[in-house]
Amino acid sequence: MKVSQLLIPTLREVPSEAEISSHRLMLRAGLMRKAAAGVYSYLPLGVKVLQNAENIIRRGMNRHGAQELLMPAILPKEVLEQSGRWDVFGPEMFRLKDRGGRDFFLGPTHEEMFTITVRDEVRSYKNLPMTLYQIQTKYRDERRPRFGVMRSREFIMKDAYSFDLTEEGLDKSYKNMYEAYCEIFKEMDMDFTVVDADSGAMGGSGSQEFMVKSDVGEDTIVYCEKCGYAANEEKMPGVPTECKCPEGDLPMEKIHTPNVKTIDDLTKLFECEPSLFVKTLIYRADDKIVAVMVRGDREVNETKLQNYLGCIDLELAEAAAVNDVTGAAVGFAGPVGIKCDVLMDLEVEKMKNFIIGANETDYHYKNVCVNRDFTPKAVLDLRNVVSGDACPKCGGTIRTAQGIEVGHIFKLGTKYSKAFGCTCLDENGEDRTVIMGCYGIGVNRCIAAVIEQHSDENGIIWPVSLAPYKVIVVPVNTSNEEQAQLAEKIYGVFREKGIDVLIDDRNERPGVKFKDADLIGIPVRITVGKRAGEGVVEYKLRSEKDSVDMPADDAFKAALEYISK
Ligand code: ATP
Ligand code: MG
Repeated sequence: MKVSQLLIPTLREVPSEAEISSHRLMLRAGLMRKAAAGVYSYLPLGVKVLQNAENIIRRGMNRHGAQELLMPAILPKEVLEQSGRWDVFGPEMFRLKDRGGRDFFLGPTHEEMFTITVRDEVRSYKNLPMTLYQIQTKYRDERRPRFGVMRSREFIMKDAYSFDLTEEGLDKSYKNMYEAYCEIFKEMDMDFTVVDADSGAMGGSGSQEFMVKSDVGEDTIVYCEKCGYAANEEKMPGVPTECKCPEGDLPMEKIHTPNVKTIDDLTKLFECEPSLFVKTLIYRADDKIVAVMVRGDREVNETKLQNYLGCIDLELAEAAAVNDVTGAAVGFAGPVGIKCDVLMDLEVEKMKNFIIGANETDYHYKNVCVNRDFTPKAVLDLRNVVSGDACPKCGGTIRTAQGIEVGHIFKLGTKYSKAFGCTCLDENGEDRTVIMGCYGIGVNRCIAAVIEQHSDENGIIWPVSLAPYKVIVVPVNTSNEEQAQLAEKIYGVFREKGIDVLIDDRNERPGVKFKDADLIGIPVRITVGKRAGEGVVEYKLRSEKDSVDMPADDAFKAALEYISK
């Protein structure tokens, strides 16, 4: 393709809306443009990268025996009614009505449709195991679309679903997808980590996420320095640590603490560490109000809390609701005499004589003890694990890192097959409920994650497998006949081989052409300049600093070898 004819609107300016480098580079390299918050159009280079990613995924899935289907993006409400998810999805799902007033939605995921398909089309164990997938556009009205295609409202997902008759079968199908994912992400040149993930309120029996470590990742990965065990934040159990609480059986005491509402204020007033306080947070879980206690220096993990409560919505309660159960302003909640259930983090059980809100504006209690001054409804792991905690498996030291979730594999069990009556006849002719797994990859997010890992101050450094064009031929001076001819010739040879090649035939200064080639990240650059008369060109890899002069033939061979590695 000739650069002069291709729509590659590169930008010199750094777009102000983009906060992270992959987002900036996708805009600057002319891969995409924003249509609305979290909604993007793809330009020619972007489309080629997307197609390359899709094909890597498609080949990986096909190699592992999965079959490709394509489901509609727009679906009628009835599809979600049987699984109960019409309500579960809440505001994250785009809902619409047809001209007759019937409810429709734009699919945020497709468990229901695949389950219905297998229920209606597959009758016998002889057809199982079966793994079906699609590469299709999903819609989620995310609360905070951001970072370009990393978290968008319209995105392409590869979603796959496995169907088995036995748990052992599911284990096998799951492992098969695990292996496919490892191959796929390796082919994209990603440096990834697989972490144990939370199976959530969905009630599955196992789940893992494929994470790309990156400072811009929205997920926190927690891993052990010693044994290497890795999990995402909500899955890693918090191991309670001992704290230096005052010894003895001290009497509870009410202290006047005017305007002292935060742990920060309290530590100043009491002149002691935040670990000697306990925070009481008041949550609204669907329609119910609950109090949650964690040590003063800890944070509540809302996924752990939500899993325990089994609620759909969870948020901090509004001031009026806090006042209802505590009788006090926000900032003075405590478990003693509170008018709602109290859930307590495991670590607080190890504490005594701590300081906590008194359920009275401007007052705290000192020397509070569990089971003497109040009794929690439940004691469970509710806090975020932090760097320095003990590993629950080996006692080693836990560290944390940020990660981008590019893929997710999940043992679903029978949640959907039960709801939809998806059964198959087994060898004895008996009807058995099918056991499912589901497996997702965010295609656009993969691209952004790869750019996060493969770029420098000059632009993107595409891995060959994803590069929109593998080679760019740059004649330094297009009005020089010798240069133009040799460049054309090299370009022609690559085209004959069926290789995606660009020729920068624009009448631009070489500096401009080099800058653009670097920005759009083409793996191999062949520059045809002063030595064109001798048949010598400059060979340069995007990933390396220096270029090498060599005969055009050698450059062609070197390029061929490099891109077919
Ligand atoms: P997240 O925790 O990031 O919201 P999720 O748990 O909702 O992800 P899944 O429902 O498991 O994601 O979807 C499968 C894959 O789809 C994810 O691993 C991710 O790569 C991708 N994905 C999910 N939401 C988005 C989004 N809003 N924009 C781009 N990709 C997404
Ligand atoms: Mg999500």
